[in-house]
Amino acid sequence: METTAPLPESTTTIPESTSTIPIPTEGDAPPDPVASHADPKSSSEPMETNDSTTGAEPLETNDSGNNPGPEPPAQPEPQPRKRRRRRKKIFTDMISSTASRLRVLRPHTKPSAASASAADEDDDADALTGYLRKRRGPSDLSKEVDIEALIAISVGFPVDTLTEEEIEANVVPQIGGSEQANYIIVRNHILARWRSNVAVWLTRDQVLESIRAEHKNLVNSAYNFLLHYGYINFGIASAIRDVKNKSSDELQLGSVIVIGAGLSGLVAARQLIFLGFKVVVLEGRARPGGRVRTKRMSGSDESVVGAADLGGSVLTGINGNPLGVLARQLGLPLHKVRDICPLYLPNGRMVNSDVDSKVESSFNKLLDRVCKLRQGIMEEIRSVDISLGTALEAFRHVYNVAEEPLERMLLDWHLANLEYANATLLSNLSMAFWDQDDPYEMGGDHCFIPGGNGRLVRALAEDLPIFYERPVTSVRYGSDGVMVYAGGQEYQGDMVLCTVPLGVLKRGTIDFEPELPQRKMDAIDRLGFGLLNKVAILFPYDFWGGEIDTFGHLTEDPSMRGEYFLFYSYCAVAGGPLLIALVAGEAAVKFEKSSAVESVNKVLDILKSIFSPKGIAVPDPIQAVCTRWGQDQFSYGSYSYVAVGASGDDYDILAESVADRVFFAGEATNKQYPATMHGAFLSGMREAAHIMRVTRRRLVPPAPGARVNTTNHESNSVDPLFETPDLAFGCFAVVIDPQSTDMESDALLRVAVRSGNSDSDYIHLYGLLQRKQAVELNGLEDDVKRMEMLAHGFRTRLVGISSLCNAAESLIRRIKAVKSTPN
Ligand SMILES: Cc1cc2nc3c(=O)[nH]c(=O)nc-3n(C[C@H](O)[C@H](O)[C@H](O)COP(=O)(O)OP(=O)(O)OC[C@H]3O[C@@H](n4cnc5c(N)ncnc54)[C@H](O)[C@@H]3O)c2cc1C
Repeated sequence: METTAPLPESTTTIPESTSTIPIPTEGDAPPDPVASHADPKSSSEPMETNDSTTGAEPLETNDSGNNPGPEPPAQPEPQPRKRRRRRKKIFTDMISSTASRLRVLRPHTKPSAASASAADEDDDADALTGYLRKRRGPSDLSKEVDIEALIAISVGFPVDTLTEEEIEANVVPQIGGSEQANYIIVRNHILARWRSNVAVWLTRDQVLESIRAEHKNLVNSAYNFLLHYGYINFGIASAIRDVKNKSSDELQLGSVIVIGAGLSGLVAARQLIFLGFKVVVLEGRARPGGRVRTKRMSGSDESVVGAADLGGSVLTGINGNPLGVLARQLGLPLHKVRDICPLYLPNGRMVNSDVDSKVESSFNKLLDRVCKLRQGIMEEIRSVDISLGTALEAFRHVYNVAEEPLERMLLDWHLANLEYANATLLSNLSMAFWDQDDPYEMGGDHCFIPGGNGRLVRALAEDLPIFYERPVTSVRYGSDGVMVYAGGQEYQGDMVLCTVPLGVLKRGTIDFEPELPQRKMDAIDRLGFGLLNKVAILFPYDFWGGEIDTFGHLTEDPSMRGEYFLFYSYCAVAGGPLLIALVAGEAAVKFEKSSAVESVNKVLDILKSIFSPKGIAVPDPIQAVCTRWGQDQFSYGSYSYVAVGASGDDYDILAESVADRVFFAGEATNKQYPATMHGAFLSGMREAAHIMRVTRRRLVPPAPGARVNTTNHESNSVDPLFETPDLAFGCFAVVIDPQSTDMESDALLRVAVRSGNSDSDYIHLYGLLQRKQAVELNGLEDDVKRMEMLAHGFRTRLVGISSLCNAAESLIRRIKAVKSTPN
């Protein structure tokens, strides 16, 4: 797994999946500034302007400054264009229309005459928030509600509906009513308030100061939800740690074994301890962070050093990003990755900007055509999914795109960039669902953290009970609890949270007993886990110029288009002159088989081809590192992607718990934010809350006569759903998946079965079936025939509401979420 090149005495060899290599010594000519193209996870829409209102973290100014090398000679070159980044739309239109519908919860403080009349104009509801203490008029108030809504959206909350998590947590007694609208305002207010100062612990009493007392229940509900689900008062600020440490002494809800000390495992462990669990973390490596790894690079005399992020590096969208919150808490100013990226030809000349624009626009059109195609055939696509690569190539032929060799090379560069964002070849990506996470993408700039993401990891790992070099080999679970085997030892607990990468699950290196459900194993097979590698090189000085953060390089061989196609300059944040070259797509796989020396020499050749003609010498490197994420036994790859035949639902299936004992977190369990550091972070918080819910349900028996929660994810009764069923016949009623028109999509069936002598004695049984089966049942003559068809034709098992499978629960939540949306 580790390739070691012959090293000079001054270089270190890095454990795990990397090779550190020496520095070839030869002098050469000097450099010039380079510029930037694209960035990962951002590939098809025009760039929007930066918005400053949505909880963005402060950015540092872009100064390049480090080790000035020899002054590069001035060289006239075509100016690199400012690049457009593909980005999702932000929902500002939706917000302003919604905010005007939302009712504001005003305080009963003594308003001045002016503010009182202003308030009256706005007062179509029964309450108001306290920020009117500062005597605001209706438009100020509405603006404030808008801004708070924007912040909530940037954190991932929908505009005017509840999330599935909020529905599960029963935050309001009735879904969809005016109370829900008020709850949303209060929730947004609390969120925004904490985000305005993340260094402090926001108390419930502080919130109550700004909300009228009669809405205490709403405040309690929203505050508890946000606190327990880790949306407020999280992180590593000392004030927050102090409160969390104190409160964790008071409770003892049970014990959880967390497998893996990557971001998801660390975050979950911290939150679980705060929630009152006893926690132990078992980590296979000798360090925390998993796929986030910052390597300190230096020469033998330590005169030049640099921090290189060999795994997760860019915060892809800073608005609402929890990692931005951590950076703020540590006082680390973020560095915006500048949006300029010049491209260089194999001969080192800069690409002509007209051709560059033309091909970029053709590339975007190709993607748009694929989008249109799949919209047209969405119904059939589940059974006939093809690869994104096949679809793009077909359209390229039909529309004669990029037929000239130069244009072809440029197009290949864009395709390589897409392969980087997805960590796999386009021929592996599902045309239908490869970008299913697009609507959720975090807005705002892409940023680096100065000194590397390892700083966040170190802070998150501090004081946690982590046992290193404990590779878990087996997990046994049953109704009494779990037993985990690692490093020749047994660990017993009430529950286990498995955060190992999808690559490790695919390899089956952890033996689960009993076996994981087939549904989960199928999803593990279907989802893809791809590869991205890096070559990090520390130079004695910055010869490429610090005014840019990225530049690209074109390759003639299409099969090697991802080889060193993009360079990141980390001068502004690494503490030294550091360049990182990316290897994506097919090249990333081949890269792992070549020697590190060979790879570094190839990178140097590329740099020389770009800079030597400008009269800039490329100096000998001080240290170089090549990653080998595919051979790393604790990841077997870089990050997840939606493979042909898979869909976003597979992320949800990966997140499903098993027998209320085995839980799963990690980037590949996060449908909204897969393949990212913040996705891993949020999945850890999600599972901590999930474990708490399950534990509470186990510990607190229902009071006599109390209405028992009806699904094992403690959602409310499903009765309201069946008040207006989609189909009703005989003793059958059916509700269908509102988000799908597919006849094979899920439908929930309810059958009323007599349980006594009287007509009013009956119980309800439930079963999951396909929509087309429901229609078939409806067409049958009578209930006897229907029951026969159910049992023998469809083989549907009818169960009590508390025994419904996860798919049925998920359907119930989806229907409730849609019904909670105001018309
Ligand atoms: C090269 C590369 C570049 C990336 N670039 C970006 C980027 O720019 N921006 C971004 O947002 N994301 C990026 N990512 C993705 C991001 O790093 C991950 O999504 C995130 O770090 C995953 O965190 P996790 O907790 O889910 O998994 P991990 O960090 O992998 O944590 C899982 C932990 O489980 C441990 N483990 C595995 N098997 C066992 C076992 N059997 N027993 C005990 N412990 C075990 C591992 O050692 C690891 O510590 C990149 C990833 C890579 C590899």
